[in-house]
Amino acid sequence: MAHVQLLYSLQQLDDEIRRNAARLDEIHHLLADDETVRKAKIRALKGKALVERVEKELSSIEAEVKAQQIKWEQNQSTLYGGKVQNPKELQDLQREAEAVQRRIAQLEEKQLQAMGTLEKAKRNYKKLLHTYHQAQAQQSENQAALQGERQQLAARQADLKVQREEKVRHLPEDERRLYEDLKDTRQGVAVASVNNGACSACGATLSTRLMQDARSPNRLARCTNCQRILYDPS
Ligand SMILES: [Zn+2]
Repeated sequence: MAHVQLLYSLQQLDDEIRRNAARLDEIHHLLADDETVRKAKIRALKGKALVERVEKELSSIEAEVKAQQIKWEQNQSTLYGGKVQNPKELQDLQREAEAVQRRIAQLEEKQLQAMGTLEKAKRNYKKLLHTYHQAQAQQSENQAALQGERQQLAARQADLKVQREEKVRHLPEDERRLYEDLKDTRQGVAVASVNNGACSACGATLSTRLMQDARSPNRLARCTNCQRILYDPS
């Protein structure tokens, strides 16, 4: 009396154990993966650095405007203070006044541009920060779901392993060894079902005799091509 049905159900258990293990492995990697959040954070930090740079540039322009205005006031009080009478000197002061005015106009234009740039940079930073916070929230949500799934799978795996031990206990030693050997050497698949007259694992067409054997409870039929144990579930 062979235990082909028991072997087949053991194979189904092992298939599920393997799928669960692969998913647990995937979950392990997904939980460790913070790439999206990390990239969003870097972008937000760059956005912040740009805002700070433009702010600094703007305040240096403002400081220069202030300095030029002081210069202008000094020039005007000297020019109209009455102390300077020499026409040449007065002419120089007049020229200086014009130059200072031009410089102030230039600076004010630069200031306006920098203010526009700053406003844009601030808007951009706000957007990047929002994206970063969203990525963080999404990640905690994902992680909570993954942790829940992991917990369920781990419990299921423990349960499957108990079931497996139970099944293995009912197998004769030679069949158990054959099963384990085939599983180890054939990508985890020791028992193949018969599917439309062919081996479901390797696809080889089976002889009528072999298909009859696969239905018999008295002996283990083996695929002549891949050597796996054949089971006909129909
Ligand atoms: Zn086969």
